[in-house]
Amino acid sequence: MSKLQSIFESNKNWSADIKKEDPTFFERLSNQQAPKYLWIGCSDSRVPATQLCGLDAGEIFVHRNIANLVINTDFNCLSVIQYAVEVLKVTDIIVCGHYGCGGVAAALSNQSLGLIDNWIRNIKDVYHLHREEMVKYVKGSEEECNRLTELNVSNQVYNLANTTIVQNAWKRSQELNLHGVVYSLKDGILKDQGICLSSDKDIEEVFKLS
Ligand SMILES: [Zn+2]
Repeated sequence: MSKLQSIFESNKNWSADIKKEDPTFFERLSNQQAPKYLWIGCSDSRVPATQLCGLDAGEIFVHRNIANLVINTDFNCLSVIQYAVEVLKVTDIIVCGHYGCGGVAAALSNQSLGLIDNWIRNIKDVYHLHREEMVKYVKGSEEECNRLTELNVSNQVYNLANTTIVQNAWKRSQELNLHGVVYSLKDGILKDQGICLSSDKDIEEVFKLS
């Protein structure tokens, strides 16, 4: 018996339940997807994009990596963004961090974890950028980790705005809004970080491409 037997069984039940509720659901989705949102979130198993937004399959295009980073040399993330913006024409991109993020906690420690140190290093850069504020927190405290999580999300939203993909979309006058949110594992609530970038006016001059 397959070690994935329980997965196959629950998959059959899920499919049957949906067909019962909405007989044409799979037929509709197999013809096309037209999500309005691109979600860039953490790989953490406790932060499932579609479920926590109360959306159905087909409504959100998803990219996840450790600590929801948008790195301008990450062709995986950039390819997802390009496809979402240029082909699917999503109108909103949501960068979602979460409190209690292991990636952010790792960035605050000095422990070496192997290859992933090179990825985590990007979060250490966010700390360094905001070190005047960050040094005020008690080292190792929950508050320190929570604040770096929020600052990391803001930083990734700006990284996103600086990409050629987003800048070119805005030049074409394509509607595209970038948002930053943080999810709480404790109550399942998304906290808006008060960032919404919709044009290149919010980009620092040095990053603007003519
Ligand atoms: Zn995380």
